[in-house]
Amino acid sequence: MRIEADTAKCCGAGMCALTDPDLFDQSEEDGTVLVLVTEPGPEHHATAREAAALCPAGAITVHG
Ligand code: SF4
Repeated sequence: MRIEADTAKCCGAGMCALTDPDLFDQSEEDGTVLVLVTEPGPEHHATAREAAALCPAGAITVHG
């Protein structure tokens, strides 16, 4: 699995970091998403998909 985030779409709502703080954080400067792990292990696949589904801006994409 590979995670991509489009910071141009991100509105800084922080849902992703709440959903899986091991995978996502927010920039201290503008609150936009930081992907901490772009290729997470299987134990994080469900929450990575959940974060993509919950993101109000559609900024997170998961492949695989
Ligand atoms: S949930 Fe979406 S809009 Fe909110 S910080 Fe994460 S990527 Fe950005």
